[in-house]
Order: sequence, then structure tokens, then C-alpha cells
Amino acid sequence: MARSATAKLATQMTAPAAQARTKRASPVRSERNCSVARTLDIVSDAWAFLIIREAFFGTRTFETFRAALDIPRATLTDRLRKLTRLQIFRQVAAETGQRKEYRLTRMGFDLYPSFIALMQFGDRWLYDGKQPPLVLVHGTCGCESHPIVACSECAAEIDVHAVQYRDGPGAGRKPAQAGRNTRRASDGSRFMQGRPSSVSRALQIIGDKWSFMVVREGFFGNRRYDRIQSELGIAPNILTDRLSRLVAQGVLIRRLYQEAPERYEYLLTSMGRALYGPFITMLAWGDRWLAKGKPPLLLRHTTCGHDFQAAVICNECHKPIIAADMRYKLSYDPREFGALGPRSIA
Ligand SMILES: [Zn+2]
Ligand SMILES: [Zn+2]
Repeated sequence: MARSATAKLATQMTAPAAQARTKRASPVRSERNCSVARTLDIVSDAWAFLIIREAFFGTRTFETFRAALDIPRATLTDRLRKLTRLQIFRQVAAETGQRKEYRLTRMGFDLYPSFIALMQFGDRWLYDGKQPPLVLVHGTCGCESHPIVACSECAAEIDVHAVQYRDGPGAGRKPAQAGRNTRRASDGSRFMQGRPSSVSRALQIIGDKWSFMVVREGFFGNRRYDRIQSELGIAPNILTDRLSRLVAQGVLIRRLYQEAPERYEYLLTSMGRALYGPFITMLAWGDRWLAKGKPPLLLRHTTCGHDFQAAVICNECHKPIIAADMRYKLSYDPREFGALGPRSIA
């Protein structure tokens, strides 16, 4: 579609009546403005995610990324270029030699709490009680840390039932972008490349954007097929596919609510509800860096009565978790994966 036509459509779509007319006139799908969707566009690209993860562990050069991930050169070049364009990385001249290095920007480092929130989910739900690959030690307090997703205002851990939503200044819908992730679920196995990682396991489930959008509708209380379909503007075959995947993965359960004709609704399991922490952490990142000061959605914590943003804090000392303060104990030998050990390891 031509650019001007797209822009015109976006303007029309802010008014519900105009939106309904547009819907009848053409099959153009629209989607709700959502900071999580914007964040997922970045981290649900498996290679991009893996590169960012290695950067958190101190990897900076083309050759060390390549060795750690066994990634084709052309793919690595492409993703480093993309992540630099998105301002997750900046290029700097290396201290030695003439080669360039890729360093995380502030925006890139700020993805760390989202990774930690996904890691906590993976540790808890995807390791069957076995020792997770990384133990976090919080340098600030010296404790073994199991970070929690908390309210920025009262520091209490956030429960999915204690949050109310209302439209923010960036609310609205925009024409959906065609392309990646609209049909086939992305190949989850790619996330498992390189070192063992709870974040990789979590992304195998929710790294597919549609899957995560379906889970998002669950957080908003939308359980029924028709409602989810109209909220997402998703093709029926894709929705059916993602719902059955999420049921198989233990994120949703299917419950009969009407006999003739048979109709089912989809409820979040305990495991599904546990994705709420990562969800609002990614939402907060998208609001900070991609929403241009206009968050689409405002969250109120009913426990304390304040509007809040998700904050990932240490469960021991309640200080915010940032990458520079973290130490790691590994339950694997990184050399087996051709990867660097985290530089900060004790
Ligand atoms: Zn609060
Ligand atoms: Zn601490």
C-alpha cells in the first residue's frame, strides 16, 4: 500500500465509526497500539535476541558473537546492522586494533530487566525443578537473588488481578504490518542455540508474536474465540493454531461454556498468569523507549492506588536490577558452547 494511503487510513481509524466503515470497505487488518508488541518485534527475532543476550555477557566483537552463536556471517552482519539502526547497539572503535566493537546503548542495557523477568519465568516453570542454568548474585546486597516484578510506586510484587487499565495518550489502532510472524509461528528451536538459557525456553513459547498477543488478551480478560479474534484482527486459522499451541504448552486451558453449538473459552493457567511479570516489564521498556512519551496504556496498581510502571527489583534488598550490578554462577561450562563466561563471574 502506498505510504499516503496508509497514513490516511491511520487517521481514519482513530474514530470507531470510521474504523467500522473502513473494515467493510477493505480487508485491511488493524492492531491496537501496544508497547509490548513493539518490544516483541525486537526480541522475538531469535537471532537478534541471542545477540543481545551475548552482549549482556560481555561479547562485543563480530568474531566473538559468531563463535558464541555459530551464526552465519551474513545473518550476523544483518542483525548487527538492524540492532544498530534500532539504537540497541552503538559501534565504537575497539581499544586495540582497527576493528569495530558493538556496545549496548542505554536503551539496549535497559532491556536487561525484561530478560531477567523472562529468565525468572523460565527458571520457575520450564525446568521441572532442575537446577536452572544461571544463578543470579546481586552485587548490591551480595545475596543470591530471585528478582520480582514490582510496582514502581509501592515496591510490592505485581499480581495480574491487582491492575486496572485505561487508555493512555498513545492509545488507538494502526493498520497491521504484514510480514514476519503473521502466518507461520517462528521456528522456536532457533532460540535454543548456544548456551543453555531460561530466557530461550520462555521465548520458545512466547517469542512468536501472535502467541504473545493471545496471552495479552487473556490478561485483559478476553477469553472467547470471537472476542480475541475481533480484538486482534487475526485470521481464524492462525488464531486456532496459536490457541492449540498455548493449550499444549500449558499456558491456557480450554473450557466448554456452551453445549449447542459447542463453544469453548480459554483461561490462563497459573503458568500463563506468571507471564504477566515479563509482559508488563516489556511494556514498560516499550513505553520508555518506543512510545515517544505517549504510552498507549496506563496501568493502575489497585493495591496502592497509584499509576505505576513495572520495576524488576531484587527480592532480598528491593533495589532495582541493572546489568552492571549482577554476578552469575553458571551450572554449565560456557566453553562447551564456544561462549564467553560472563566477565563478572566470581
Ligand atoms: Zn503499588
Ligand atoms: Zn539485592
